[in-house]
Amino acid sequence: MDFRLTEEQEMVRQTARDFAENELRPGVAERDDKEIFPREAVDKLGELGFMGMIVSEEWDGAGMDTVAYVIAIEEISRVDASTGIICSINNSLICYALQMHGDDYVKDTFLRKFANGTWLGAFCLTEPGSGSDALSMKSTAYEDGDEWVINGSKNWITSGKNCDAYVIVVKTDPDAGHHGTTTFVLPKDTPGITIGKPEEKMGIRATDTVSLTFQDVRVPAKNAIGGFGDGFKVMLSALDSGRLGVAAQGLGIAQGAFEEAIKYSKEREQFGKPISHFQAISFKLADMATRITAARQLLRYAAWRKDAGLPIGPEAAMAKVYCSEAATYCALEAVQIHGGYGYTKDYPVERMLRDAKITEIYEGTSEIQRIVIARAILDE
Ligand SMILES: Cc1cc2nc3c(=O)[nH]c(=O)nc-3n(C[C@H](O)[C@H](O)[C@H](O)COP(=O)(O)OP(=O)(O)OC[C@H]3O[C@@H](n4cnc5c(N)ncnc54)[C@H](O)[C@@H]3O)c2cc1C
Repeated sequence: MDFRLTEEQEMVRQTARDFAENELRPGVAERDDKEIFPREAVDKLGELGFMGMIVSEEWDGAGMDTVAYVIAIEEISRVDASTGIICSINNSLICYALQMHGDDYVKDTFLRKFANGTWLGAFCLTEPGSGSDALSMKSTAYEDGDEWVINGSKNWITSGKNCDAYVIVVKTDPDAGHHGTTTFVLPKDTPGITIGKPEEKMGIRATDTVSLTFQDVRVPAKNAIGGFGDGFKVMLSALDSGRLGVAAQGLGIAQGAFEEAIKYSKEREQFGKPISHFQAISFKLADMATRITAARQLLRYAAWRKDAGLPIGPEAAMAKVYCSEAATYCALEAVQIHGGYGYTKDYPVERMLRDAKITEIYEGTSEIQRIVIARAILDE
């Protein structure tokens, strides 16, 4: 067993770290404070090949493996969790769904643009009344000649305002349960789409999160991803891949908070010595380091399984639940180590704590991940 990174993975790690330090760190606090979408950074990430990392070169992607991809998301999120999730959604949910399930028309017309960074994608699954229970969605599409007509609404759509196109799951045969949904890709400027007011969020404030209303939105039948009735299958495979991205985002936040805590604990003196000399503080750091190391191995193992063509359902769920809870744990401890200063915007750990929480909620809550894991171990 060899835990070392390959030359290519190490190069990705270094490039992502340099980018995060030079391009993301300088404005990260202001973007969080003023809710500014990181447009320039996203465009540059596209130029660097980070928006379609696991897409094959044939379709204008970077042709990297999943291990390299999760390393990149970790490095980006270590500094800027908002940019991390924007990048992750485009890679894991949009590009992956199109690469795995799209036909040549969909790949040539849409995947290329998402993969080379010309277009940014948003993934539309959740609705006001359907979150964890995705199948209870109300949005529908009916067939009309060689088009489908979408009606309904979607909630909480990350990048919904700043993207160029949507991937949406709707019911096309409402009585057919799992086999009655279909996934479509459509440009944002398709007539009939109304974008709601951005949500005011606790964290990842540089992302835009909006509701969308679809009223008689016409989409060509050839824009379907996968077969008609296969929407749920497409969604589940995209979410397995997406969970690795969110796990990597959580891991990056945990690592960033840990580094801030180490730095501060060595600088801050009380009772005549750096606070890192107190066992109560150093044990917190030891526990953070242990959880981060465990989280990273779990995530890279799940990513390795995906690259090896092995199933990743429970492993992706384990990585997601562990990395996201490590993010909240480490950010909370980092605030504690900063004392009163950690409770202010003068130090980045306050933002990291706000950013960490969402990783336990989106792309399947921690409760849902545990259901996935429990079903797998109980063989149900
Ligand atoms: C900032 C942000 C960005 C998002 N981005 C996107 C996006 O880009 N695209 C998209 O489609 N969605 C997005 N979402 C939606 C997100 O995926 C959902 O919020 C999430 O899946 C949970 O759904 P819900 O909020 O409706 O909670 P609910 O499903 O109503 O759950 C409420 C609580 O009940 C628990 N619960 C539910 N069912 C069970 C059960 N069977 N057993 C035990 N506990 C259960 C949940 O774990 C949770 O604690 C985003 C959400 C946020 C907040």
